[in-house]
Amino acid sequence: MKYDVLVIGGGAAGCMAAGFAAKNGNNVLLAERNDRIGRKVMITGKGRCNVTNACSLLNELIENVPVNGRFLYGAFSRFMPYDTMDFFEELGVELKIERGNRVFPVSDKAVEIVDALNAFINNNGVKKIKARIVKLNTENDHIISAQDENGNIYEADKYIIATGGKSYPLTGSTGDGYSLARQCGHTVTPLKPALVPLVTSDEWTGQLQGLSLKNISITVRDNDTYNEVFNDFGELLFTHFGVSGPVILSASSHMKNLTDGKYSIEIDLKPGLSDEKLDARILRDFAENANKSITNALSKLLPHKLIPVIVRLSGIPTDLKVNQITKDMRQDLVYLLKHFTVTVKEFRPIEEAIVTSGGVSVKEINPKTMQSTLCDNLYFAGEVIDVDAYTGGFNLQIAFSTGVLAGKSV
Ligand SMILES: Cc1cc2nc3c(=O)[nH]c(=O)nc-3n(C[C@H](O)[C@H](O)[C@H](O)COP(=O)(O)OP(=O)(O)OC[C@H]3O[C@@H](n4cnc5c(N)ncnc54)[C@H](O)[C@@H]3O)c2cc1C
Repeated sequence: MKYDVLVIGGGAAGCMAAGFAAKNGNNVLLAERNDRIGRKVMITGKGRCNVTNACSLLNELIENVPVNGRFLYGAFSRFMPYDTMDFFEELGVELKIERGNRVFPVSDKAVEIVDALNAFINNNGVKKIKARIVKLNTENDHIISAQDENGNIYEADKYIIATGGKSYPLTGSTGDGYSLARQCGHTVTPLKPALVPLVTSDEWTGQLQGLSLKNISITVRDNDTYNEVFNDFGELLFTHFGVSGPVILSASSHMKNLTDGKYSIEIDLKPGLSDEKLDARILRDFAENANKSITNALSKLLPHKLIPVIVRLSGIPTDLKVNQITKDMRQDLVYLLKHFTVTVKEFRPIEEAIVTSGGVSVKEINPKTMQSTLCDNLYFAGEVIDVDAYTGGFNLQIAFSTGVLAGKSV
């Protein structure tokens, strides 16, 4: 049987594309390699799914897409975050807005979003099959058919590639879309990790493995120019290789041409206290522990795991009693707590990234329709395209907006 549209990939973008194409009267086949659609959506926002960002200004939306943001003007203007919110609310998902305009289901369960996408495609009569598409057969810049890994052939008038990126491959997104696009003559720009944990070169970070610091602020500095490139406040996690957590993932997007030692991250362990207030606080703690060691005296101020590292880096001899610590030593300690610095060595691999930077070149996709400019019956949607955004719900919004546009355009 020949379909009007074959959508390849049943993630955030593919479900939108398939549902909207079917809503317009097309006979749509959705090929998803997993048993179920939306496996990556299930793990978004730590299982809570930050489904979009409630920002209502087109320019603000574009500013949050550092790579090829302007390409998305057409897609965003036709399907804005408030459209995403209306879309899910009409499907029965109650939503809430949190800090930074991040939108989540009230239930804090990503499965509600996946269920809603499932209901949307089912209600509109999309036919789903479990198939991994590995080949697009073309003739004169026109796709004739698609082939899955078992050799089955699927024919359609139009094809939408919505296979996602290359990160978190266990979700099914292993980068197949890039080779499908290449088969149709498309250029794929170099693939790099974005929103990714960072490997650090300080020998002590491994000792802090598992330590999570909740209310810290960070400043990322370019050591070549000494310019500040990013600030943020929130949560950071130490791992066996370096650092991760929300502020680090965001920071990684601001590190261009990363080389070993190019960037440092200064962690302010006590952002709520000025230097003077922190010094006064330490003095109080020291007074209560006058005859004890510095390790004891810091136990109220710092997490247990952090104390030996801080003491070592402060250079204060551990055999000194607190009442022997000089004012200069104490001031160095204050400085260290306000500027606890890690040096970035490299990104973790793309498989551990939240999104893939790079992808099908936007120069070969019509931004008003998501149609290929090289192959007349091919369209793209979602992360497979060379666009990526900061954290905050923007990446799913890209998937939804481009998915809707591709689905409506076919
Ligand atoms: C841990 C994690 C947390 C995240 N949290 C958030 C968040 O809270 N908010 C946010 O905005 N973004 C978040 N993201 C990013 C967001 O998930 C992606 O940007 C988004 O899912 C991209 O949608 P997509 O449809 O393009 O790709 P995907 O959602 O990856 O879907 C692609 C689908 O295509 C299928 N597929 C792949 N190849 C084939 C093939 N050959 N044949 C058939 N099917 C195929 C895959 O199985 C998959 O189901 C997160 C990402 C990760 C990894």
